[in-house]
Amino acid sequence: MAKNKKKQTELDKIVSLCRRRGFIFQSSEIYGGLNGAYDYGPLGVQLKNNIRDLWWKEMTQMHDDIVGLDASILMASKVWEASGHIKNFSDPMVDCKECKSRFRADQIDLEAPCPVCGSKDSFTEPRDFNLMFQTHIGANSGSASEIYLRPETAQGIYVNFRNVVDSSRVQIPFGIAQIGKSFRNEITTKNFIFRSCEFEQMEMQFFCKPGDDEKWFPYWREQRMAFYEKMGIRMDHLRWHQHGPKELAFYAKDAYDIEYNFVEPMQWQELEGVHSRTDYDLTQHSKFCGKQQDYLDPVTHEKYIPYVVETSAGLTRNVLMALCDAYDEEVLTTEKGEDVRTVLHFHPNLAPVKVAVLPLVKKDGIAEMAKELEQSLREEFPTFYDQGGAIGRRYRRMDEIGTPYCVTVDYDTKEDNTVTLRFRDSMEQVRIPMSELVATIKESTKNYKRK
Ligand SMILES: [Zn+2]
Repeated sequence: MAKNKKKQTELDKIVSLCRRRGFIFQSSEIYGGLNGAYDYGPLGVQLKNNIRDLWWKEMTQMHDDIVGLDASILMASKVWEASGHIKNFSDPMVDCKECKSRFRADQIDLEAPCPVCGSKDSFTEPRDFNLMFQTHIGANSGSASEIYLRPETAQGIYVNFRNVVDSSRVQIPFGIAQIGKSFRNEITTKNFIFRSCEFEQMEMQFFCKPGDDEKWFPYWREQRMAFYEKMGIRMDHLRWHQHGPKELAFYAKDAYDIEYNFVEPMQWQELEGVHSRTDYDLTQHSKFCGKQQDYLDPVTHEKYIPYVVETSAGLTRNVLMALCDAYDEEVLTTEKGEDVRTVLHFHPNLAPVKVAVLPLVKKDGIAEMAKELEQSLREEFPTFYDQGGAIGRRYRRMDEIGTPYCVTVDYDTKEDNTVTLRFRDSMEQVRIPMSELVATIKESTKNYKRK
């Protein structure tokens, strides 16, 4: 069978840019790579931190009824018994008896030959495969030392509900926000960092009086969608998906996902869930730990187990969304013919490097002046200094990593203290006094609109 060379998908191009420019590498690459695990390089970690900081500010600083938490990844096994993860957190799995490849039974045609080795009738019977990573704590072996890497951050919030109420004077309604790593032993990892075994979540559980969830559920849906608009994401690439009866967890009252239209071949995929979870989790923990996880209203003296509205977003999925949303190949017509400009149209608040300072030439003290300017901007912005190569090529290198502002220092700067400020999206250049640089960049960031 003749093998056609596969056409590079949009996703392939983004993966390749991420590796080439130091956003994201495969884990343990020099040893052949570890599937489903990724390392964030110099630009990737900055992009991820920028998104994380925006979410944290949005959820805690901008909402005075939300407090933060950072629970540990390792938790008592009882937590996962109570939450139902030990019993139910599994996917149906089959193995190919010939090549030993493993598949999710619900994702392949069990009547067809093995997609890896082509053997017929080689699949085992489907069996449940728990997605939690198990490990051991302490020096003793045996079931008492068996613990799990958390498969979600939410339970860390539930088990600290009473601690937070008793220690921080919060009153219902209030929320607890947390960002952290979670781990799932996915049978099939795919779509780059979209479904990986180790990932980061940004979750908030909002505790309210039973019945008031009817008010808070639409409120949080609206808040969460508005966040992505602030992040500068194209709104026509986002939509709601309401869970049907088959998708809805048995205890959930209602659930919506925010879906993003990722690049080919991914298309619409879940980015964040906003779920109305009733009192299920706190009730489960009350039963399993033997201590009531309830709340006494200091004014009405009513006692109840609060209802929860949860917002659960993937931080690492947000990174992929930011990359997909920003990626563009622009065809430019120049004197020499057609030219393709690869550019990441990040919102300036997301861009790993915000300002690049470039001396037009290295000689006559121009480089020293540019370096000094770059140093002075560091207090305000993440900056980058580049003196190597033709100025046009340096601009393009900055476009490719999404740097929104480039500042060029030249001979005129020596005379009149002005510099050239170049805007990434429009490639427009303006001449301004150096003293106005910080204010101009801040103003432009505030008014940034993606074309
Ligand atoms: Zn096989």
